[in-house]
This record gives sequence, C-alpha cells and structure tokens, in this order.
Amino acid sequence: MSKVIPFARLRVSVAEQNERPRGECTHRRIKLEPNGGVVVCSICGAMLSPFWALSMLSEQYGLALAQIDRLNARLALASARVLELSEELDALTTQERASKASPTET
Ligand SMILES: [Zn+2]
Repeated sequence: MSKVIPFARLRVSVAEQNERPRGECTHRRIKLEPNGGVVVCSICGAMLSPFWALSMLSEQYGLALAQIDRLNARLALASARVLELSEELDALTTQERASKASPTET
C-alpha cells in the first residue's frame, strides 16, 4: 500500500532582488550540469550561481502558487454561478411543465 505524503507550501524570502535591464536574458530556463555541479542558462549559456537559480525557482514557484490560488478562486465563483443558473433553469422548467400540464384550468 502506498501512502501519499502532502507537502506543505514553503515560503522562501529573498533578501534583495536584482533588476535586469530590458532585453537582457532573465535566465528562466536553466540546466543542471552534474559534472562540476554547476547551473547554466539554457538560453544564453551563462553560468549561474546555484543560490541565484534556487532563488529564481523559489520566486517562480511562489508566482505559480499565487496563480493557482487565483484560478481556484475563479473556479469556485464559476461553480457557484453554474449552480445558481441551474437552479433558475430548474425553476423555469418546472413552471413551464406546470403550465403545459394544465392549459385548460385557467
Ligand atoms: Zn540566460
């Protein structure tokens, strides 16, 4: 039997953020080189410090989690709206059936 262990969401804070000039590579696609244990940007080939790579991944992870939270909130609102509309449709259908079932009673 397998057991799924849930991971808690980790919060990592970074001391300071380096702003890059526009057009400069942001090194968002990194490659881990097992020989030498270095991190290299797959786009521009720059050798990156492992700490920088970890910080970047941590930031991207935080952004992705925030996006998931926003999408979950929108999904909950959409689900609630679908439920409301379904109830309205059910009420309309019930009224329609009632009026068709007894058209001569009025
Ligand atoms: Zn790069």
